[in-house]
Amino acid sequence: MTTLIFTHHDCLAHDTGPGHPEAPDRLAVVWQVLDRPEFRELERRSAPEADVEQLSRVHDRQYVEAVLAAVPDEGYRRLDGDTLLSPGSRGAILRAAGSVCAAVDAVLAGEATNAFCAVRPCGHHAEPARAMGFCVFNNIAVGAEHARKTHGLKRVAVVDFDVHHGNGTQAMFADDPDLFFASTHQSPLYPGTGNSWERGVDGNILNLPLEPYSGSVEFRQAVERAILPALEAFHPELLLISAGFDAHKRDPLAQLGLTNEDFEWVTRKLVDLADRVCGGRVVSALEGGYDATGLAEGCAAHLKALMRA
Ligand SMILES: [Zn+2]
Repeated sequence: MTTLIFTHHDCLAHDTGPGHPEAPDRLAVVWQVLDRPEFRELERRSAPEADVEQLSRVHDRQYVEAVLAAVPDEGYRRLDGDTLLSPGSRGAILRAAGSVCAAVDAVLAGEATNAFCAVRPCGHHAEPARAMGFCVFNNIAVGAEHARKTHGLKRVAVVDFDVHHGNGTQAMFADDPDLFFASTHQSPLYPGTGNSWERGVDGNILNLPLEPYSGSVEFRQAVERAILPALEAFHPELLLISAGFDAHKRDPLAQLGLTNEDFEWVTRKLVDLADRVCGGRVVSALEGGYDATGLAEGCAAHLKALMRA
């Protein structure tokens, strides 16, 4: 009963072009972390491809089909200002979403207490019918609906500590009181959403915007005073984590100043809460993180806490 890792080589083949922050090297960095002695024993499983049915639970079917048809045979196809498809993208985008579904299957089957999906591209900006901010399909939301539709769970929560607001996840959850989404993020910052007055239905959306150059104290207060009590009250049957490491103090895209210890701390808090409310069942998926060292050390801290090491 430990932590499972879901990943796939196809996720390296999503080529975003020269100089793009969401580069294949990010995944290579995470794999190097997984090869460290303390993580080497973790069981790794191949991330399967999500199918159109699974994706269409949170995305418009037309959007899903249009994206898959848009994957180019050569060169790049642009979906928005900074989101591109390359010939290798098909496997990556399908496996990134499929990894969360497979991790949910494994955790709900009791094959592990929790799981981490080491995949790219990230997903939390992807809206029902729009690719955005490096994200094509919303991996974590696809996993949440998979848990409900395939396994009969009623209440699923997502906590998103990526430095950017998970506008896509919020858009998919906002009308459904049995889904809960809580996010800490820097504000102002891309994508500009995530104000504290965006509360969804019955308060099922909880946004904790943090000013640039906030740090550990403000972050931990937001988690401890707002997110943990709200999560406890919501009482999810499964807890999902949008694990971005771009709030790390080294990250070039934001200025939130979190440390490795903050990522370990928040993960331990979430694992402890999951122990109390949902039998410890947690599935985490990689979102952002654009400094190699910040991503590696943030990930290592997160994994250590998932493993309760
Ligand atoms: Zn981000």
